[in-house]
Amino acid sequence: MKKVHHLLLAAALIHGAVCARAQEESHDIGGPEGLDIFEELNEGESTDVLPSTVWDVNDSLTFIPGYDVYCHWNTDVLFDRANASRRFDHDTLKLFLGQHDCDLSMPCTGGLTSGYGMRRGRMHYGVDLDLETGDPVMVAFPGMVRVSKFNKTFGNVVVVRHYNGLETVYAHLSKRLVEPGTLVESGDTLGLGGNTGRSYGSHLHFEVRFLDQPIDPALIFDLKNGSLKALEFDIHKGTFANMAAAKAAAQKAQGSRKYHVVRSGDTLFALSRRYGVRVSDLCRINGISERSTLSIGQRIRYN
Ligand SMILES: [Zn+2]
Repeated sequence: MKKVHHLLLAAALIHGAVCARAQEESHDIGGPEGLDIFEELNEGESTDVLPSTVWDVNDSLTFIPGYDVYCHWNTDVLFDRANASRRFDHDTLKLFLGQHDCDLSMPCTGGLTSGYGMRRGRMHYGVDLDLETGDPVMVAFPGMVRVSKFNKTFGNVVVVRHYNGLETVYAHLSKRLVEPGTLVESGDTLGLGGNTGRSYGSHLHFEVRFLDQPIDPALIFDLKNGSLKALEFDIHKGTFANMAAAKAAAQKAQGSRKYHVVRSGDTLFALSRRYGVRVSDLCRINGISERSTLSIGQRIRYN
């Protein structure tokens, strides 16, 4: 693990000249205002090839994984919302995941407790994996830590950018052990599992994203065996389509939901009898405990 701040800056400046989007989005990297790396060149000299005495473009760029895909390196913002809602119209992109199945580490040893998709009317953009607070959380693929911070929802969260442009997200950690710019190998411990942020019980919330758009981790990982499903992963429109379908289904379901407004004397048991829904199901769909007391005016969904 090592930090490469000046190389990040160098690469960002080079790319800023090449990539149109970088002009607006590289503000996060900082650096001298208006510095043009081509100024050093003699008049009439081609700007296509940089003199090797300045720096080696290729060597510098290798330090920012996926920079050619993103054209930015933001160490503060988890995701670019503009990207996240954009339609993916590219042709199929073939992503190289590893040479061998063992080129990845599962982020923790615990099993799947909640999958990707709609959950209680909200989209769950990752998977939840079981762990105890203090258990090590490992980096899935080699790459560089882009974000390591506390977030109200994600708690202590680490985002790692990988060389193929994928990003992985590790949330609700009790402790973060890496900083933005840290180079990591698959299997490195990036933090300790926990229950920080909007989390009920210790677990790891794990996401896989490409260009800020979430991908079901189960498409890439065999979550039961802790292995890769394949050594290559194709990204195309359909990769994100399941999310669109899940959202549409949820919106449709939302329209047909039925609610009971609690009146004096109502109990969960009485509502269960009245609507023919088990008390445990009522509690599950409403996110309440079987011991909770109902309040007058409270809306209880019963389908
Ligand atoms: Zn989660």
